[in-house]
Amino acid sequence: MAHTARQWLDRIHALPLPARVRIMNVCGGHERSITAAGLRGALPAAIELIPGPGCPVCVCPEEDVYHAIQIALREEVTLVAFGDMLRVPVNLPAGEVRSLEQARAAGGDVRPIASPREAARLAEAHPERPVVFFAAGFETTTAPVAAMVAEGAPDNLFLLLSGRLTWPAVAMLLDSGEPGFDCLVAPGHVSTVMGPEEWAFVVDRHGIPAAVAGFEPDTLLAAFYSVLRQHTEARPFLDNCYPKVVRPGGNPAARRCLDETMEVVDATWRGIGTIPRSGYQLKSVYASHDARLQFPGYGDEARRRAGQMPAGCDCAQVVLGKLYPTDCRLYGNLCTPRAPVGPCMVSDEGACRIWWSAGRGRE
Ligand code: SF4
Repeated sequence: MAHTARQWLDRIHALPLPARVRIMNVCGGHERSITAAGLRGALPAAIELIPGPGCPVCVCPEEDVYHAIQIALREEVTLVAFGDMLRVPVNLPAGEVRSLEQARAAGGDVRPIASPREAARLAEAHPERPVVFFAAGFETTTAPVAAMVAEGAPDNLFLLLSGRLTWPAVAMLLDSGEPGFDCLVAPGHVSTVMGPEEWAFVVDRHGIPAAVAGFEPDTLLAAFYSVLRQHTEARPFLDNCYPKVVRPGGNPAARRCLDETMEVVDATWRGIGTIPRSGYQLKSVYASHDARLQFPGYGDEARRRAGQMPAGCDCAQVVLGKLYPTDCRLYGNLCTPRAPVGPCMVSDEGACRIWWSAGRGRE
């Protein structure tokens, strides 16, 4: 019989915990559930829950947002993106177009969409007009994009792809020698697509306890209990605490589509730099749908160097779990969801926005 959240909490409180143990949760969805359910306050004081690199909007490189804005300002183009991306600011002087939302206000045809299918339908409905889909996201978002491409996208649909893989960011932290966490709770949705085995390296190479978790408080607490018990017993293994949804090998059809249409390449993460083999790129056979090739000329090297986080924004450190949102000097005064400075305050999966919306740091 499955345990309730209360029972998992009781079991966690009964563990012989050390004075301090840090659990990183990779996924922005996990952070939202943890914060909404008030799990930090319910756990023993020794446990620190650290939000990790699980917000695709937060890590989307500035040069890609800039490129999307420049395309959106072309009269003949419709640009579509997932809603969060519209408000992400780039570092340009006041008075210039600094976000897709501002590009729309300046006359660009910019539309929020909820799925790749919506982008395809829009392109089909307007065959005379190029539709550019700015597709930023992790494996769970990139897999449906890959499926759309594999099935045959309309000729007038172009992808400005900014897809990222989650595990290389965690690998980078672990390889740094100072990961800043003792246990890992791996993302459920990503594991649904890629399989829980994707996280085996955390245990096999680094001896760090790991568990895949779902999004309800009971499955999150089950994963916390698992990694804490592994930690106290010094017996790390990879636990799948979301077996109803996460199956060995992941989703073979989704993985096939990714393999068929995408190459894994080195990629830039905003404010963090290049992480080896952490990004998706359309295979050359699909070049006719690649917006970078069809709308070149906006790849600005200066942006790549200078276009990181806005001055004073600690988003990159927050994404890497090195700082909490409340450690940022701008949090809640100069930076709020209404007037965001950095992407972590824009996205529903950004730790700053999640914490601010839940009232953290406003006490
Ligand atoms: S509070 Fe705003 S400025 Fe500070 S790290 Fe978060 S997004 Fe960046």
